[in-house]
Order: sequence, then structure tokens, then C-alpha cells
Amino acid sequence: MKIETLEIVGRKYLVKIIDQPRPDSTISIANNIIAIKIPLALNREERFKQIMKMKNWARSKIEKNPDKFKIEVPKEYHDGDVLKIGAEEYALKIEFKEKQSSSARLIGNTIYLAVSSALSPEKQQKHISSLLSRCIGRKRLPLLQEKIRELNKLHFNQPFNKIFFKNTSSLWGSCSGQGNINISTKLLFAPDAVLESVCIHELAHLIEHNHSDRFWALVEKACPDYDERKKWLNENGQQCSF
Ligand SMILES: [Zn+2]
Repeated sequence: MKIETLEIVGRKYLVKIIDQPRPDSTISIANNIIAIKIPLALNREERFKQIMKMKNWARSKIEKNPDKFKIEVPKEYHDGDVLKIGAEEYALKIEFKEKQSSSARLIGNTIYLAVSSALSPEKQQKHISSLLSRCIGRKRLPLLQEKIRELNKLHFNQPFNKIFFKNTSSLWGSCSGQGNINISTKLLFAPDAVLESVCIHELAHLIEHNHSDRFWALVEKACPDYDERKKWLNENGQQCSF
């Protein structure tokens, strides 16, 4: 792996160049890191050209919408805070206890968190956000399952396996080869229509396990304004997090 830096719109980005056995190049931009994967098979000249092309692509992408690539500042939670999720509000009671593990209980609309005092403040916040995501995900799972069952009946009629909420940081949803559908708990912060569009995307994968034209035609048919909902996620998705 080779590492360089690149300054774009006044911000320094770390560029990681990684060789991969796959025949295509890929690029991802997150947390001020631009990761470029280049096929191993290229010769020096092709490799150089490809890297330049990818860097230019990253530059124009960031220049067009610099806010989208701001580093995510994790949320901080304190005792007495109110967590708003859609139309719901949860009161947070946070206690620090001398034990190794942390736990959470939801009673009514209050979440009682017992957080290990042995952890660093940063780790404590991480524990809190993952506990909150799990706690609220568990409460909202029956609703999600009902929604997905309904959308499936309406548009796809495919057998599927299990539905889970997952506390994922990079994916909005996924559909496994075994027909398990995972939806990110971050979508609890998004409008219902946006959550639905992700469910439709994953349900369409029950028929097409790829992103082919056939797949997009299925999505388009079930959700004609999919692009608009996707746009909402692109623009606001960063704020959707526990
Ligand atoms: Zn997909």
C-alpha cells in the first residue's frame, strides 16, 4: 500500500493506494481518507494513468459538495438528554458503574443506561450509542418486519428469511444470499419514505442479486421516486446516526 496526501478545498486527505487482484479500479472517500484500489495486472504507465484518473474523480466529487465529505463528529450523550427519533422522544438516564460491561433498559420512553466507568470517555460514548441503537432497534423491529412483509406482498412476493436491524456505519441495508434482510438502525432517523425505499432496494435483491438494469427496473417499478429518496440520504444521511 502506498500513502500520499492531497489537499482539496482546504482540507488534507490521505490517499491510500491499494493493489487488488480484481480487474477493475474502485474508490471510496470517508473520514478524510481516499482509498483507491488498483488492479494488480496493470503496467506502470497504465497504473499511473488510472491513479491520476481516480484522484481527479475524487477531487471533482469533493469540490462539488465539500460538506458531504466532512468528518463525522460522533454524537455525545449525557444524563438527562432527550433523544429524538422521528416523532418519538426518549429520556436518557445514564449511570456510570464499576463493572466491565455496559447495559441498557427501555422502560416506557425512558432508556436507563449503565455504562462501565472503567472505560475512556470516548469508549463510553461508543458504548452508549451502540446500546441506544440496539435498544431502539429492538423496539422498532416488529414495525420494520411488518413494513417489509407488506412491501414484499405488494411488489415482489418472494420468500425471504429473517429481518434484522443492524447498527452499521457504512451500509443502509443488505440482503444476503440466504434471504436475510438487514436494515441499518441509522434509518430510524430518516423519513419513513426513505426507510421504505431502502427496504424496496433490499427486497428487489431477492430477485436480482446484483445492480443490473433488471434490478433497477424492479426498484423503479416498486418505487418510482427512488432517486429522490436516495438524494435525501445522500444529502442528510450523515446526520442519521446514533
Ligand atoms: Zn443493492
